[in-house]
Amino acid sequence: MQRSRLLGKQLLIFGAVFFIAFCSVAPSGGLLSTRLWRAAEAQTPPPAVSMTWMSVTNWYFEMNGIKIVTDGFISRVPRGNGGAPFPPDVEAVQRVLDAIGGEVDVIVAGHSHGDHTLDTAAWARLTGAQIIGARTTCLQALAQGIPESQCTIVEGGEFFDLGNGVTVRVVRWNHSGDINTPAGVRLQAPLELINAPVPDPVNGGLRPSILTDFPNGGGARAFLFSIDHAERQLQVFFANTGNAGTFESPRNVDEQFFEEHSATPLESNLEIVTETISARAHLEAAMADAGIDSVDVWLGIGFGTISGSSTNLSRFAAHIIQPRAYIPHHWDDFRAPSFFDGLTRAWTNEGLEEFWTSMDVPFFIQGQYMDKYILEPSGITFDINSEVKAALGLPDVAVIPMDTASEIEADEPECLCLHDIGMQRPDLPDFSASR
Ligand SMILES: [Zn+2]
Repeated sequence: MQRSRLLGKQLLIFGAVFFIAFCSVAPSGGLLSTRLWRAAEAQTPPPAVSMTWMSVTNWYFEMNGIKIVTDGFISRVPRGNGGAPFPPDVEAVQRVLDAIGGEVDVIVAGHSHGDHTLDTAAWARLTGAQIIGARTTCLQALAQGIPESQCTIVEGGEFFDLGNGVTVRVVRWNHSGDINTPAGVRLQAPLELINAPVPDPVNGGLRPSILTDFPNGGGARAFLFSIDHAERQLQVFFANTGNAGTFESPRNVDEQFFEEHSATPLESNLEIVTETISARAHLEAAMADAGIDSVDVWLGIGFGTISGSSTNLSRFAAHIIQPRAYIPHHWDDFRAPSFFDGLTRAWTNEGLEEFWTSMDVPFFIQGQYMDKYILEPSGITFDINSEVKAALGLPDVAVIPMDTASEIEADEPECLCLHDIGMQRPDLPDFSASR
């Protein structure tokens, strides 16, 4: 498996990257003519890192000219779909791709549930980009006609040089789910596909449920990006799920759990993965390998109110990751009828916000899809990104009635006594092995 220099000649076009950041902010009261303003703009060097939030855990990064999409879920599976095969909305993906400039070099997939990787293969087909993700992600892509060579399977512990001074380390991560409830344990249990799923003969779609064609992919993968910069290297940590309850030590399940706590038996194409190393140990190994004890920004989960899933995870991991800023994601409604409705849910996770504020860590709450953040050594600045939003028919800021606020998660105190399997202390990942 090729694990370094994933990308080739397409990275040499860095100098031609067109820069549109900050163009919504006129510096002199709008007195400059459009032409003069554009000339002034063209002299500004592009920022080393820009990060555009494309709903849920979908981001578009430009890092030293390398173009990266995370997950890329743009289709919307309607509420009440009932797990029926659902093909990607390729037109919607194309429209978003066009709005961000039409090119992507790499797609990293954090985990393989339908609200993350339903469209990953579509992005890969439209752009030719290499996918990096779980075996499940690659099998889903294979099922949708993406050649095996265009998807790199990662387990955690891999290092990739993406070119232009951008590298990424893969961190084996855990999935969310309240480990005191059967539903929560089922959600977090690491499951992988064994073979490529078979698309529906009628509509070509895969079944989007977590116990059919879109299991989580053995928990999750987080990604630690390091970006060279003249002043100092920048670090971005992306994790599209997570769980305080299994952060310090994995919680394994066996077939019997599914027999007792699942409406249907585990499908024969699903394999239960036994986790032996904690997400915490993986994270520490990645940060040690990168030679860092903090990151510039953690793009992390923002869901959970009463049960506090994201707040608790932040509490557990804050002293390890030590982010200089936190941007929450996955707190919006991923079942809203259309991506092009924009943000339809109000932010309600005050506990998470209070936690990071108490830590003196800047905390950014998005106001609309395609909000953009510029990362410099001095910190993060916000760019309203009006042109891209306008291209997608989105107002700059979503107007959201308060009665559409997030549903409050219910605590279910039911206890499960799970079998712990294979909890011996294994060797930590060796990042140098993949260089
Ligand atoms: Zn998930």
